[in-house]
Amino acid sequence: MSDPRRVPRTDRLLADPALVAAASVLGRDVVKRAVRTAQEQVRTGGLEPEAVVPAVIEALPRSTIALRRVVNATGVVVHTNLGRAPLSAAAVEALGVAAGTTDVELDLATGRRGRRGAGAIDALLAAVPAAEDAHVVNNGAAALALLAIAHAGREVVVARGELVEIGDGFRIPELLTACGVRLREVGTTNRVRLQDYADAVGPDTALVLKVHPSNFVVSGFTSSVPLAELASLPVPVVADIGSGLLEPHPLLPREPDATTSLRAGAALVTASGDKLLGGPQAGLLLGRRELVQMLRRHPFARAVRSDKLALAALEATLRGPTPPVQRALATHPQQLHDRAVAVVARLCAAGVDATVVRTEAAVGGGGAPDVTLPSAAVGLPATLMEPLRSGHPAVLGRLEGGRLLLDLVAVAPEDDTELATAVLSVAGA
Ligand SMILES: *Cc1c(COP(=O)(O)O)cnc(C)c1O
Repeated sequence: MSDPRRVPRTDRLLADPALVAAASVLGRDVVKRAVRTAQEQVRTGGLEPEAVVPAVIEALPRSTIALRRVVNATGVVVHTNLGRAPLSAAAVEALGVAAGTTDVELDLATGRRGRRGAGAIDALLAAVPAAEDAHVVNNGAAALALLAIAHAGREVVVARGELVEIGDGFRIPELLTACGVRLREVGTTNRVRLQDYADAVGPDTALVLKVHPSNFVVSGFTSSVPLAELASLPVPVVADIGSGLLEPHPLLPREPDATTSLRAGAALVTASGDKLLGGPQAGLLLGRRELVQMLRRHPFARAVRSDKLALAALEATLRGPTPPVQRALATHPQQLHDRAVAVVARLCAAGVDATVVRTEAAVGGGGAPDVTLPSAAVGLPATLMEPLRSGHPAVLGRLEGGRLLLDLVAVAPEDDTELATAVLSVAGA
């Protein structure tokens, strides 16, 4: 036991500038608890009084949230387990504005109630002139749920080859039937014809749904019916395009996009905001005015309402500079190679066993499963995988051929230095 008079007083400690700063971020209670623990250690002789402040700082959590920043070096551009699309700087700034009190549902010119998310909707309509109107909900699944609930008790015609499991055990057909529509499946797993749809459409049919099988490819003896042909049917055709591409993308010729789908005659397109669009989690509904308006005013619309943060980030994504996902897709392989060479040079200079590796990266996010993106990685001993994953920030790569590969396709160029520093700190070099 040490002399109790040697234990620093709580009020003195809490007035220390470093702990005041920590309390302003983490909250006073958290700091106080850490102070008490350190004082107890002084009392029992395990800590010198002058070491209390550094010990408290060391014991404090780094953040108020359990989420940790992860550098995505997996080579998967849209990684669902890493939160899908990282937001652009413009979208992050928009989050800061939206976090306060804003005119999200107020027309400041008149002082009257305004349409929620008008900015995001205007931005969507500017990006997709083929859409007469647009609405934003919580996510892609919510867009389908709203559509289905608004047609509960009626029939939705869908091809057997398009009854997709999205991921984590969630299946679109089960979502639709849980919302009260009856599914009328047509065709077989590999083939469906226009006549199959035409035979199935009847007085109970609310719509034909064309789901993009975004996370798998069926090849061989296959056929599906293009939207333009489905549009000849006497019921509205809805296209769930999934990825959120608003226009055709040159690298992703098999990914459907909103503009082409609407021009081909779709009455409505549904999509996610946080896949290839590169924005926040959101469900987009674009298409014919009366259909969009009916869905917007449906009682269930309130239950899948988009949050003000997502609406602001979506608008900024659409109006602002190219978001990270689109930037990653547009990066030339030679640029990735040059960056890998620079990182490897720095690591080798410090004695790390690092090599430049040519790789094939993936789009991810349940999109373009048949597309590989030529990329480059930093190859490292596999033993570094676990320590890098546990670091601050965490760095997540992938194992291939007995080496840990840190693929640069989804790493922002401005994060290369941080990546190299993280490797140096765990390599003991
Ligand atoms: C991803 C996807 C969905 C689900 O969208 P979420 O935004 O994840 O809810 C639905 N349909 C298709 C075709 C998809 O690719």
